[in-house]
Amino acid sequence: MSDPVIPHSRPTLGEEEAQAVAEVVRSGQIAQNGRVPEFERAMAAYFGLPGGVAVSSGTVALELALLALGIEPGDEVILPSYVCSSPWLAIQRVGAQPRLVDIEPATFALDPDKVKGAMTANTRAVIVPHPFGLPADLKRLQQLGVPLIEDCAQTLGGTQHGTLAGTVGEVTICSFYATKILCTGEGGMVLSRDAAMLEKVLMLREYDEQPSLTPAAYNRKLTQLQAAMGRCQVAKIPRFLERRQRIASAYERGFKGAGVTLPVVPPDRTHMFYRYVVMLPDPVGWTTSNRAGLDTLIGKLERRGVR
Ligand SMILES: *Cc1c(COP(=O)(O)O)cnc(C)c1O
Repeated sequence: MSDPVIPHSRPTLGEEEAQAVAEVVRSGQIAQNGRVPEFERAMAAYFGLPGGVAVSSGTVALELALLALGIEPGDEVILPSYVCSSPWLAIQRVGAQPRLVDIEPATFALDPDKVKGAMTANTRAVIVPHPFGLPADLKRLQQLGVPLIEDCAQTLGGTQHGTLAGTVGEVTICSFYATKILCTGEGGMVLSRDAAMLEKVLMLREYDEQPSLTPAAYNRKLTQLQAAMGRCQVAKIPRFLERRQRIASAYERGFKGAGVTLPVVPPDRTHMFYRYVVMLPDPVGWTTSNRAGLDTLIGKLERRGVR
């Protein structure tokens, strides 16, 4: 019998990935080599962008995106308060000042009005995650006139007015961590239509590319093994998205009448459902000092095989 537990995240890997990795192993060329630019070209083609640079993680991609934009100590970078710690850490790494702003409660995405309110003469960039598969309001964020770093770690395929998330900002990053939409175990990418910016990222990715001992240069490369897997995964994106839509529709039917708030999809956007987040009307009376209600709910879910 198969495992009855519904896992929180599970990579969709098949025989293609296994064979691609085996080929790399047999070739003996396992460090960064031809498979990496192949993967970069495939991702760039997916977004319709001229190029991308593969790196070792999404966090590294954010750090290099900031450096490519010329962000320096003293500069301010806006980011949402509700996101994993990665964008904050990347801003810290380049010595810039993070400015946290609130999200819109309905979409979990950056609130463009709050971004506007947080802007100062030192604001140099906004990191824009597209949470759970729904693009942020790129249209309004773009009107603010500050460079946008689109964080597509949670969204590949979501659109606003038919425009693909990841194709609007000055620079876009992806993560290929094991739980993401497209996965290679670990990995990330910086994509842009600006060739000079990509060149800068390429130079910073490996210390051997630096003519002198530039402190920002480091080892941030992806291996052939990861790139070979990634290349297979890119080809599967349309299938992944279709399956996610079907599962989301099943959840929508299943949750009907259950008294929970379902994901909000503004009429100008499409959701690709990296996560299907529902909200409880009363968050089971949970507070940091009293987890009892939350623990009861988690216990109930675990007994039904949801973990
Ligand atoms: C996962 C994630 C990252 C970081 O990616 P890593 O590959 O884990 O470093 C950054 N931003 C968002 C929104 C993420 O979900």
